[in-house]
Amino acid sequence: MTGMKVITVDGPSASGKSSVSRWVAKELGWKWVSTGAFYRGLALVAMHEKVDSADEAALLDLVGSDLWQVVLNPVDTEVHYRGQNVTTEIAGEQVGAVASVVSQIPKVREALLDRQRRCYDPAVGLVAEGRDCGTVVFPQATAKIYLTASPALRAQRRSEEEGADQQVTKELQLQRDNQDSQRKVAPLKEADGSLKIDSSFLSLEEVVTEVLKYARQKGL
Ligand code: C5P
Repeated sequence: MTGMKVITVDGPSASGKSSVSRWVAKELGWKWVSTGAFYRGLALVAMHEKVDSADEAALLDLVGSDLWQVVLNPVDTEVHYRGQNVTTEIAGEQVGAVASVVSQIPKVREALLDRQRRCYDPAVGLVAEGRDCGTVVFPQATAKIYLTASPALRAQRRSEEEGADQQVTKELQLQRDNQDSQRKVAPLKEADGSLKIDSSFLSLEEVVTEVLKYARQKGL
């Protein structure tokens, strides 16, 4: 092993990152974090608190407030807001769209970075998934995965999960992915030295097997 006891899984929306990383963490007995929950949580809290998604100062106040927390557990990265567990509320494409807007603000990213890094406990190990986990959050991760799938499949998966229209979901996802890939700070991109896996024609189990094999090759 050359770096931290961390596996990063980055990629576009609905590419299977959460399902894969949750399973990999379970196999290894490590912790798992969806870093998207920090952006989704902030987006949801801003919506409830009537804070504009372009109001940098007010968003930074929210990041620092104790109105909300991110709580890790083996099956979910939970968001708690004003004492309520709002994890199911943050899941949809509507919150995802606002998350993608607030995540473009460099100071917001910087403020959330420390919280994301604190999820790592070297005694346990961490599987971290998101957009910039391998490039920015954990550049010293020992194994980095870039997970992708065709836009049609990603839209099909997410629309089935949410009971939403497939075409509308596809358009919202493409818009979010473009925004996430083109932003100036920490854009979605493959980290140097990452293993790229296209999950379009693989089962979840096959992807997990490939990630675990790669992790073992890296000495994890
Ligand atoms: O992964 P998830 O769909 O939950 O992420 C929601 C949004 O949060 C993404 O579209 C992206 O704008 C932002 N995000 C990010 N960096 C991460 C994880 C998520 O900018 N590491």
